[in-house]
Amino acid sequence: MTQKDSDYGFRTRAVHAGNDVDKDSGAIKRPITMANSYELPYDPTSINWSDAGPNLYTRNGGTNQKYLQERLASLEGGEDCIVLASGVSALSALFFSNLNSGDHVVFSDVTYIATYRLLNELFNRKYGVETTMVDTSDPENVRRALKPNTRLVHIETPGNPTLKISDIEAIARICHERGVKLSVDNTFASPFNQRPLEHGADFCVESLTKYINGHGDAMGGAIIGRRKDLESIRAQSQINLGGVISPFNAWLIMRGSVTLPLRMKAHNENAMSIARHLKGLPCVSFVSYPGLEDDPGHRIARKQMGPGFGGVVSFGLRATHDQYNLFVSRLRIIVSAVSLGHDESLIVFLGEDDERRELFDEHFRKGFLRFSVGIEDAEDLIADIDQALEAVGLL
Ligand SMILES: *Cc1c(COP(=O)(O)O)cnc(C)c1O
Repeated sequence: MTQKDSDYGFRTRAVHAGNDVDKDSGAIKRPITMANSYELPYDPTSINWSDAGPNLYTRNGGTNQKYLQERLASLEGGEDCIVLASGVSALSALFFSNLNSGDHVVFSDVTYIATYRLLNELFNRKYGVETTMVDTSDPENVRRALKPNTRLVHIETPGNPTLKISDIEAIARICHERGVKLSVDNTFASPFNQRPLEHGADFCVESLTKYINGHGDAMGGAIIGRRKDLESIRAQSQINLGGVISPFNAWLIMRGSVTLPLRMKAHNENAMSIARHLKGLPCVSFVSYPGLEDDPGHRIARKQMGPGFGGVVSFGLRATHDQYNLFVSRLRIIVSAVSLGHDESLIVFLGEDDERRELFDEHFRKGFLRFSVGIEDAEDLIADIDQALEAVGLL
């Protein structure tokens, strides 16, 4: 794309950003470059081996990674992007680069499990970083938790697995008044539904394994933000921590991301139909989906999300432990598996023995299902749920 990126719509950028004609072959799709090393200049003593810019060695950065970075920076509306081997490697790169011993970090009480473990166990117990978990759905809790040594606030919205919503703009304002940086995990929404940088976040971090790749066949993660904030993270995370993505996975994610807007539209619509259907069933004890008008996060979700609210719905059944497992085993289309954001529907039974259980709101503690609604026909998914509930005697 030669014109300014932001002159184009989201779908155009999902197709074209980061793609170009391959100069060697004339192919209109860029090739996968699997080489580990690149030819050195005449005088290799001039090389700065801590530089993640030029093509030297694939751990310093590779071409497929760079194409994907260009696309994601464009989709998230950021200046620059770092693509790494997984969402967790993106999170750990962000934390390792921004937090020193003696610093303080505030983060959402309900987050992806590795975020919780990285901050609470590794950074707190091993490296002397102070941590405070708060319910970030009330921005005032963030304000109250800030200390003179707070360096970073990290929130997840919608949060995994409860779909709790936090107000990005209000929290960014509170952070910036105190010179603190804000990072937002945007995995659940994807840039199609929410772009945290536009709401004042300093870093957007996400798993590409989920919606952005979308086909359940590759792992990746990304950090998007200002170029100057990303420089030191890039060198650390790739060259010294080694979390570099394989060129093949970067290429797969690049291909998957082309249809992100089309798939997200289907995920949004299907999840809304399913949330409404579940709401009407007497055997369903609660439904958590920010698209529902009576959801506690709906007002804020409408402000910062759109066109839709994503594809994950969490819900409880008036069921015993055994009935939950039996229900899942009777599903015919929906697959029992972790992960989310794949083309196919995935469901997982969570809550009862989760190490974060005490942090969950009461109704989640009795066990619940996290349903990643796929892009199949909504009627087929609804019929699948109903037949499995019936088989277990719940309907
Ligand atoms: C899955 C997930 C991650 C981790 O991503 P991986 O690619 O599995 O390492 C981080 N944050 C959220 C919200 C996730 O759902």
